[in-house]
Amino acid sequence: MVSEQIDWDALTFSFTPTDTMYVAKCKLGEEWTKGEMMPYGDISISPAAGVLNYGQGLFEGMKAQRSVNGGIVLFRPERNAARLQSGAKRLGMPPVPKEMFLDAVESVVAANARWVPPTGKGALYIRPVLWGTGAILGVSPAPEYTFMIYVCPVGPYFKGGMHPISLKVSDEYHRACPGGSGGVKAIGNYAPGMMPSKGAKKEGFAEIIYLDAVEHRYVEEVGAANFFCVKDNVVYTPELTGTILPGITRASIVDLARSKGYEVCEEKIDIEFALQADECFCAGTAAVISPIGSICHGDVCTMYCNNEVGPVTRELYDALTGIQTQVDPDEFGWMREVPIPN
Ligand SMILES: *Cc1c(COP(=O)(O)O)cnc(C)c1O
Repeated sequence: MVSEQIDWDALTFSFTPTDTMYVAKCKLGEEWTKGEMMPYGDISISPAAGVLNYGQGLFEGMKAQRSVNGGIVLFRPERNAARLQSGAKRLGMPPVPKEMFLDAVESVVAANARWVPPTGKGALYIRPVLWGTGAILGVSPAPEYTFMIYVCPVGPYFKGGMHPISLKVSDEYHRACPGGSGGVKAIGNYAPGMMPSKGAKKEGFAEIIYLDAVEHRYVEEVGAANFFCVKDNVVYTPELTGTILPGITRASIVDLARSKGYEVCEEKIDIEFALQADECFCAGTAAVISPIGSICHGDVCTMYCNNEVGPVTRELYDALTGIQTQVDPDEFGWMREVPIPN
């Protein structure tokens, strides 16, 4: 497919193969060797690979966007590099050096530049993965690791404008437990959420809200996004206790809200409190900021802002996307321009 033929308006949040991917390898106890770019395609892997048998794998999710200035920009990519490193330590994998991660991300984006949608039509989703690809029989770290990056154009998360979603609190399932792997993007954290999420969708909800696994009362996350609520103009988000994924969007919203004069509380959020809030939204790279129109917990349902986008949600959404598309000045130094060779 040549870029002239890409129908940007038809893009959704689904997989499309692109031109080029990046692959690097590392043996346990050694240094990473320089990665290479290769045509996007299937890879060959041992059936005894640690990632396939024991879930020794991590992923990251980022976006490259075409800014209003015409350049291609990344949002805080050094944060993704750092998060992949902390995940690697947790799963016994060799951390990828930050500079190597950033160079690789830039190279893949540059090589697939024709797949970056025009401003406002979506983004190039970037998926770095780190896997134990060496063969291992016993439950222990694999002897060899692969760090790969592939990219995929995606449409805007909300086509035709933001619309609030309805959520259901799960009393049955938990996403993570203290001391587990919920605080890193371990691949094994995601499959267990698929069935609960599918069940909620069948009942007409967009996603599940997970509560903490110990007291079953504090809000943790919304599917694979972080939770926020607003009450009397104070912005609340669950504190990072190790069971919540430290989202880069989450951290950025905390900084943005404070810079706009809001008080921001990072603390335990009782679901009863969230049900009394004025506004709720969830946040992550894919959805940016998604307004929550209603939450049901058992038979109790709360509707927020008459099922419309709340004012604080709207303000933070506009501020964040304004910085990300470079409509507004990058006062925090969050944006990184990808050099595109001619
Ligand atoms: C990736 C992810 C998020 C959002 O993180 P961002 O860095 O903002 O994209 C939130 N929760 C979970 C469980 C995630 O996997």
